[in-house]
Amino acid sequence: MSLLPRPPDAVLPLADLLGGPLRDRHGRIKRKLRVSLTDRCNFRCPYCMPDSPDFMERADRLSRAGLQRLLRLFVAELGVTHLRLTGGEPLLRRDLEAVVAECGSLRALGLERISLTTNAALLARRAAALKAAGLDDLNISLDALTPDTFARLSGNREVQPVLDGIAAARAAGLPLKLNAVIVRGVNEDEILPLTRWAMAQQLPLRFIEFMPLDGRHEWSQQRVVTQAEILQHLRGEFEIDPQPRGSDPAAYFRLRGGTGAAKIGVIATVSNPFCSSCDRLRLTADGKLYPCLFSPKGVSLREPLQAGASEAELTALIRDTVWHKDAGYVAHPGYAERRIAMNSLGG
Ligand code: SAM
Ligand code: SF4
Repeated sequence: MSLLPRPPDAVLPLADLLGGPLRDRHGRIKRKLRVSLTDRCNFRCPYCMPDSPDFMERADRLSRAGLQRLLRLFVAELGVTHLRLTGGEPLLRRDLEAVVAECGSLRALGLERISLTTNAALLARRAAALKAAGLDDLNISLDALTPDTFARLSGNREVQPVLDGIAAARAAGLPLKLNAVIVRGVNEDEILPLTRWAMAQQLPLRFIEFMPLDGRHEWSQQRVVTQAEILQHLRGEFEIDPQPRGSDPAAYFRLRGGTGAAKIGVIATVSNPFCSSCDRLRLTADGKLYPCLFSPKGVSLREPLQAGASEAELTALIRDTVWHKDAGYVAHPGYAERRIAMNSLGG
C-alpha cells in the first residue's frame, strides 16, 4: 500500500532545475545527507555485513577534495543542512577528525549539524578530538549488553570497548543516542535490559526493526520484531504513553516505571514506514548517490566529478536523480533487489 500520491510527472520541472530546495517527485524536500566514508568495518554484524565482503578498492573511494566539493554543492546549492558521517565503520578512517573539520567550513554556507553513526568500539581514544574538530552529536549502535549476545550480533566482538566509547563521548560533551536492531530469536531478550540501562544512564534509546537490507540475505518477515512486539516486551514493566509524531523516523514513547521515566523511540521501517516524510539521501564512499535506502542502484557523482563536470552539471545531475526518487519501502515491501548491503550504503 502506498501512502504517497502517484507522481504527476516523470521529468524534472524546469523550476526545480534552476534552483530552490532539493525536491523529489513525491513532494518530499531533502535536508539530510548520509555520507558513507568507507564500506569496511571492524564488526561483522550478521544483519548488515555479507559473509565474505567484497570491499571497494581504496582507489575507487572519493578523494577528500572530491568529497568536500560534492558536500559544498549539497549544502550551498541544494539546501542540505545536516550531514551524518557513517559507513561501514567511520572510525576506521584515520582522517575522520580532518573530514569533520572540513565539513565544519560548510557551516558558513548553511550547514547546521554534523553527526556521526558508529559502533563506538574505537571511539574512546578519539571522542575528545572529534568534539574538538566540530562534531555535534553521535548515534551509537548497541544491540545487546550480554557479552554472548553482543558477540553473536557483532561477529565475535566485545561489548566493553563500546561501553568505554559511550563513556568517553559523554565525558567529551558529545550528545548521543543509542540504536539497537532487534532480530527475532537473537536479542528480543535484550529489549528490557537495554531499556533499563539506557534509563539508568539517562541516554536516549531507539529500537530499529530488522530491515531487508542485510548482506547475507537472512532477512524474513518472521525475523522482524515489530514495533508492536517491542512495546509488548516493555509493557510488563512500564506504562507506555505514545508521543506526538515529529519529523524523526522514530515514533517516540514515554515510559514510566522501573527506576524512573524515559523516552524511547522505535524506527519501524517494516511495520510502519515513514517514507512519506523522508528527507534523506545517501552518498556512498565511492561517490554514488542513492536517493533511498531501497533504491536498486546509485548514480555515480564521482565519474562526472573526475571527468571535469562543472558545478552546474553536477547540480543538475543531483537534482534529476533526487527528483526520480521512488516512493520507498511503502512501494516495494520486502527484499530490495540490489547488490549493495548496509555496510556500503551507510545506515
Ligand atoms: N558501523 C556503524 C554502526 O554500526 O553504527 C555505522 C554504519 S551501520 C550500517 C548504521 C546503522 O545501520 C546501524 O545502527 C546498524 O545497526 C543499522 N543497520 C545495519 N543493517 C541493518 C538492517 N538490516 N536492519 C536495520 N538496521 C540495520
Ligand atoms: Fe559494521 Fe555497522 Fe554494519 Fe555492524 S552495522 S557490520 S558495525 S557497518
